[in-house]
Amino acid sequence: MKSLWLFAFSMALLSGACQNNMKDQTSSNTKKPMDTSYNKTEEEWKKILTPEQYYVLRQKGTERPGTGEYNLTFDKGSYKCAACGYELFSSDQKFDSHCGWPSFDAELGNGDRIKKIRDTSHGMIRTEIVCARCGGHLGHIFDDGPTATGQRYCVNSLSLNFTPADSSKTK
Ligand SMILES: [Zn+2]
Repeated sequence: MKSLWLFAFSMALLSGACQNNMKDQTSSNTKKPMDTSYNKTEEEWKKILTPEQYYVLRQKGTERPGTGEYNLTFDKGSYKCAACGYELFSSDQKFDSHCGWPSFDAELGNGDRIKKIRDTSHGMIRTEIVCARCGGHLGHIFDDGPTATGQRYCVNSLSLNFTPADSSKTK
């Protein structure tokens, strides 16, 4: 047990050192505590999320196109962050983009529920989108949307939980 702690401690030190090296333009995006109750450790997230959700939400993974639960869901309702339950999208904002992932042309709120971060991984320049409350990875946003907003929020089904509208009848 003691050696395990030592291992965890040295890993934390190591990753801290790595982060310091690349702490320039992204530092304001990654380390700012939002609401501390959603500021969980990776161990805590592992207990809450399924391995697939953990891979996408915490390790910025991507589900295979066309395999997501909500790819072809067009029922009325709302989509919440699968990690923290923050309401992010409405079914009214969803459209069929034929890209293999759930796609939305806008987000709920005033643009403050989803954080946009420049992403240069995999040799591409893209804009990553994360839940502003818990920092969970959602997907990417593109400006080639076919609707009036011109936006295409391309989101992993694994990052979302859908709540049908009729389960919470609107007044
Ligand atoms: Zn969240």
